[in-house]
Amino acid sequence: MRYSEYFIPTVKETPADAEVISHKLMLRAGMIRKVAAGVYNYLPIGLRSIRKVENIVREEMNRAGAVEVLMPMVIPGELWQESGRWEQYGKELLRFKDRKDNEFCLGPTHEEVITDIVRREIRSYRQLPINLYQIQTKFRDEIRPRFGLMRGREFIMKDAYSFDVNEKEADKSYEKMYQAYCRIFKRCGLDFRAVEADTGSIGGASSHEFMVLADSGEDAIVSCNSCSYAANVEKAEAGLSGLSPDTEMRPLEKVLTPERKSIQDVSEFLGIPAAHMVKTLIMTADDKLVAILLRGDHELNEIKLKKVLGCDSLEPATEEAVLNSIGTPVGFIGPIGLTLPIIADLVLKNMRNFTVGANLEDYHIKNANFDRDFTVENFADVRNVVAGDPCPRCNNGTLEMWRGIEVGHVFKLGTKYSKALNAKFLDENGKEQTLFMGCYGIGIGRTVAACIEQNHDENGIIFPIQIAPFQCIISSINPKDENVRAISEKIYSEMQKIGIEVLLDDRDERPGFKFKDADLIGIPVRIVVGAKNLIDQKVEFKLRKSKESELVAVDDVVHRVENIMKEVLA
Ligand code: ATP
Ligand code: MG
Repeated sequence: MRYSEYFIPTVKETPADAEVISHKLMLRAGMIRKVAAGVYNYLPIGLRSIRKVENIVREEMNRAGAVEVLMPMVIPGELWQESGRWEQYGKELLRFKDRKDNEFCLGPTHEEVITDIVRREIRSYRQLPINLYQIQTKFRDEIRPRFGLMRGREFIMKDAYSFDVNEKEADKSYEKMYQAYCRIFKRCGLDFRAVEADTGSIGGASSHEFMVLADSGEDAIVSCNSCSYAANVEKAEAGLSGLSPDTEMRPLEKVLTPERKSIQDVSEFLGIPAAHMVKTLIMTADDKLVAILLRGDHELNEIKLKKVLGCDSLEPATEEAVLNSIGTPVGFIGPIGLTLPIIADLVLKNMRNFTVGANLEDYHIKNANFDRDFTVENFADVRNVVAGDPCPRCNNGTLEMWRGIEVGHVFKLGTKYSKALNAKFLDENGKEQTLFMGCYGIGIGRTVAACIEQNHDENGIIFPIQIAPFQCIISSINPKDENVRAISEKIYSEMQKIGIEVLLDDRDERPGFKFKDADLIGIPVRIVVGAKNLIDQKVEFKLRKSKESELVAVDDVVHRVENIMKEVLA
């Protein structure tokens, strides 16, 4: 491609509305442009990187035995009503009616559509297993679209769905996808971890998320510093261990804590560490109030609590509801004498003589103890793990915290959708059985953005060769110079002949201007052709990721670049 005929609208200024580096750089490098909140145009080099990721994904899916299809983006509401998700999915599902008043939605994910295909076409165990995938545009009306392609409303996803005769076989399909995902993200040049994850609204038995490590990541993940345990904080299990218990229970002591409502204020005022205090949260679970006890320095994990309570909706009770029901303002609530059901976090089991609210404005109580002073419905793991917690799997390790960007997600679905949509097959004995499913997503645009989060410097993007829009750029210094032009063209056409993706910067611009663009758009290899070095039959060779450049003979340079490509893409 000749730069002079191409379309890369780079900009110098940092766009004001972009918060994370990948978003800023994708705008500045002319890869994307916003059309509406969370809706983007993919400009040429943005599209090229997207296609690179798609191709890697496609190759690895095919290699793993999955078969490509393409489903519609517009889905009849009936299918979603059949699965029950028409009601459950909420506002992320964009619903609309056609001219005949039929209900439709834009597909945010395609379990219903694929299950409909399979229930119509698959009859016998002989046709199984099967794994069907597509690479297609999804729409989710996200509350807060942000960070460019990272959290769009319209975005490209690869979604695959496996169908098996039983759970054991479904586990094998899952494992195959898990391995394919490891290969995909490795080939994209990413530093990633596969972590245990919550299954969320898609449902199902178990799942892993593939997380790209980056400070800007929206997810908190933990990993053990001794074994292979890694999980999303939403899901990470907290072990039982806590403070070593005092041996004796001390007598209760009511203390004045005027206007000290927060744990931090009470802790400072009384000189008691937050970890020796217990906070009482009042939550509304399906319209009923429930009290949750947590160690002062811990945070509630609503996903875990929802599972423990088995409720559909969960939110903090309003101050008004608390006052009406308990008669004490928020900030002074405690478990002693409380008539609400109480769930205590597991870690509290080992605690003694802790400080709690007194259920009396401006007072707290010291030396509270379970059983002697109050009882709870049950102890359960309902908190977020924190750095330094013991690993729930091995005896030696502690948990470390990371930020991650979720680029892929694999789920074991079991029979959730096949049961709801009545997707069956005939087994070896001619008996009807329900299909076992798995589903597997990868955010294509998010993967490109995550890659940029991990690979950039103050001058711009540093694309790994695997997903760079072009592999090599030839910058001609003064292309009006006859010799410079001839040699640039020669290298350009030789590279094209052997399949190197090369951009020839033949623009009539100053060298500094050209180098700035080349650095910004992050092309991995740069060749500079200038009159001075041509006197010795040399050109300058530089990798985007290294500071140094070197002189290479004109006759060797194509070979040199070819070898680099072979090494990386092998
Ligand atoms: P998140 O928790 O980030 O909203 P999710 O759990 O809703 O993600 P899945 O339903 O598992 O995501 O979708 C599969 C993949 O699609 C994700 O791993 C992610 O890479 C991508 N993805 C999901 N939502 C978006 C979005 N709004 N913009 C871009 N990519 C997305
Ligand atoms: Mg989501």
